[in-house]
Amino acid sequence: MNTHAKPSKLIQGATGDWEIVVGLEVHAQVVSKAKLFSGASAAYGGEPNTHVSLVDAAMPGMLPVINEECVAQAVRTGLGLKAQINLRSVFDRKNYFYPDLPQGYQISQYKSPIVGEGLVIVDVSPTEQIEVGIERLHLEQDAGKSLHDQSATESFVDLNRSGVALMEIVSKPDMRSADEAKAYVTKLRTILRYLGTCDGNMEEGSLRADVNVSVRRPGEPFGTRCEIKNVNSIRFIGQAIEVEARRQIGILEDGGKISQETRLFDPNRGETRSMRSKEEAHDYRYFPDPDLLPLEFDQAFVDALAAYLPELPDAKKARFMADYGLPAYDAGVLVADKETADYYEATVAHGGTRRDPKAVANWIMGDVAAYANSLGLSVPQTHLKPAQIAGLVDLISAGTISGKIAKDLLVILIGEEKDGDPQAIVEARGMKQVTDLGAIEAAVDAIIAANPDKVAQAQAKPSMLGWFVGQVMKQTGGKANPQAVNDVLKAKLGI
Ligand code: ADP
Ligand code: MG
Repeated sequence: MNTHAKPSKLIQGATGDWEIVVGLEVHAQVVSKAKLFSGASAAYGGEPNTHVSLVDAAMPGMLPVINEECVAQAVRTGLGLKAQINLRSVFDRKNYFYPDLPQGYQISQYKSPIVGEGLVIVDVSPTEQIEVGIERLHLEQDAGKSLHDQSATESFVDLNRSGVALMEIVSKPDMRSADEAKAYVTKLRTILRYLGTCDGNMEEGSLRADVNVSVRRPGEPFGTRCEIKNVNSIRFIGQAIEVEARRQIGILEDGGKISQETRLFDPNRGETRSMRSKEEAHDYRYFPDPDLLPLEFDQAFVDALAAYLPELPDAKKARFMADYGLPAYDAGVLVADKETADYYEATVAHGGTRRDPKAVANWIMGDVAAYANSLGLSVPQTHLKPAQIAGLVDLISAGTISGKIAKDLLVILIGEEKDGDPQAIVEARGMKQVTDLGAIEAAVDAIIAANPDKVAQAQAKPSMLGWFVGQVMKQTGGKANPQAVNDVLKAKLGI
């Protein structure tokens, strides 16, 4: 386990080095049509209070009924996190008062969660991997939402979220920097998306994190932590950790002590603020929910789900390296998004012929990704089809166009001919590379004849050859095969 930070991760205070320690509690909304204990729609949005059953509104006498699909999703997630699946778990009531919580308690799991310890392998950079332990995963209900911005004098409550299934995924305190925490959430989100158990959409609040931060002198025991509630973007998670660590170091270096508390991150002011101290912390009076039996299933239920688990990012990355001979970096970039990985494979194998996997990776990760990024899209979300990228790569490998002309071709596919067939475009627009020696020789002869002074210079100083290559390219519209041009020039100039 990653117990000691590399010296490069330490942060310098006024009195020496400090190490950051981070553990995350991630709330991930379960992909499911209905809520955890009712049949109401779990869809995002909708007019306020239109996705609310009598159970979600906590009408007296209503009874919760467990949604089996939510249980299956939690088990799938546990399997994807290489975690212990508990065949028996217990739902507890977590009691507190809040206007958006009509039951007066949240149904959650406390002492006996559905999933126990697991492990996530995290790529912090192309050359650095860490392992982050999972402490547990439990199922719980989301609360409703108080709306304070609709009226100057009144607040409203929207219960559409009330009772939607969440998975709380608790990590061990295994991260040692903001970058490690950001990479962990990124990887966790990728795994959840591959599994189809959470859409990972942080803007819609489907994934949010409580961030626990402490600091210590290298090698010392863990320090007292503060918990920053409900951070809803990966960038903010990084910023919150850095400012909170700085705040704690400042206090400790001034001889003060950290008091354990819950804080909020304000991205506009770039600071964390106290919300409540440990002394004010709620006593939730957890107890097993008497309306629900313990949740029990057998190993066969788990095995059936395991049998249909998709290939996960780590396995896909290993396969991309083995099958396509890709470097770890390329494989890691391509599998970070499942649709991009599928797009890549469809391109390599388009039309049943296999093309150079590295060349395809270079295009998809290079010029095509740059275009997609400029639109804020992933590669598969653009109009470009694997067939078009495959066609472009085929034209290069057949020597029909140069890599340089291929870039022009891509511009045409992006702009003027969105549905265009690369082969047809190259034919119609006369973009074919000139490999015909006769044509190249003619161009070379013309340039030599027109520039006797330059010929003499080049014979004295062979590095002048580049000037001639440039002239031939200009004359042929960049379409001459560069190797052939070089060979012909050298022969004719006698250098
Ligand atoms: P509690 O039961 O009080 O919520 P947990 O032990 O469940 O505390 O820890 C909650 C989260 O805080 C976990 O993600 C854990 O990794 C993290 N954590 C625990 N101790 C520390 C620490 N000293 N520094 C940073 N994070 C910590
Ligand atoms: Mg906890």
